Amino acid sequence: MSPLPRIAIHGAAGRMGRALIQAIAASETVRLGAAIDRAGCSELGVDAGTLAGLPACGVSVSDRVEPALFDVLVDFTRPDAALAALDVCVQAGRAMVVGTTGLTAEQNRRIAEAARRIAICQAGNFSLGINLCVKLVREAARALGDGFDVEIVEVHHRHKVDAPSGTALMLGEAAAQGRGFDLRKHAVYAREGQTGARARDAIGFAAIRGGDVVGDHSALFLGEGERVEISHRATSRMNFAAGAVRAAAWVAGRPAGHYSMQDVLG
Ligand code: NAD
Repeated sequence: MSPLPRIAIHGAAGRMGRALIQAIAASETVRLGAAIDRAGCSELGVDAGTLAGLPACGVSVSDRVEPALFDVLVDFTRPDAALAALDVCVQAGRAMVVGTTGLTAEQNRRIAEAARRIAICQAGNFSLGINLCVKLVREAARALGDGFDVEIVEVHHRHKVDAPSGTALMLGEAAAQGRGFDLRKHAVYAREGQTGARARDAIGFAAIRGGDVVGDHSALFLGEGERVEISHRATSRMNFAAGAVRAAAWVAGRPAGHYSMQDVLG
């Protein structure tokens, strides 16, 4: 039997990093190879198991990305850090799972280009439920057509640094696909002052921030005399972590390519 793929967690001391340590500890398909966080992080040197409230596992948090220690790097950090890790993975021929959101179009282009050389699974949301919602939103947009206005509303905890969320963008993209147009030409990310009436094909986004909300998303289809809502509420980060670990096991040993959670779920 071949050994289990070794996973490096990039951003190990963060909220998602700790959930990933727990998900890997519970997994029978992958094992922890490295736990990485930024230079100067107060958790450097701490055992990853201890960090996640588990028994010590013998892997301590380091600020170095050492490809010899892993087969797949799972990144939940910040855009610049994700891109720095990407360069190391491309150089060393290691697969990557990218969960970091808030990437610019140029950063996403660099990831897509790197995916010609290594296997990369990237998703704005790794939960099973949201990936089902993406399909439902695409289908609803197609079926309801332009008589229904599409608005995406999301709520997240007060520490989130980017908006709209990667998941909101996934839902907006799915709605645009269902309607048969390019999201970039129709997205409305903010409204203030004399905005004028709503454009017929607009896809609006609203972001609410506060408290400890893990992630609520709704796609609203607002018609005359009726409305359809497709909603998802995450109550724990473990669903994202379990999905990302599933993606890591799936992407290990795959040929180069830019994969999504839809590919992982088949
Ligand atoms: P967080 O702030 O709790 O954790 C981020 C971690 O990254 C921190 O420990 C930080 O020290 C570390 N970091 C920052 N710069 C680094 C560097 N240069 N090198 C190594 N480590 C570095 O944030 P979080 O809530 O865990 O979220 C992290 C990212 O994941 C965000 O972009 C968030 O939006 C995204 N996210 C994605 C999903 C998904 O399913 N795709 C789910 C939840 C969060």
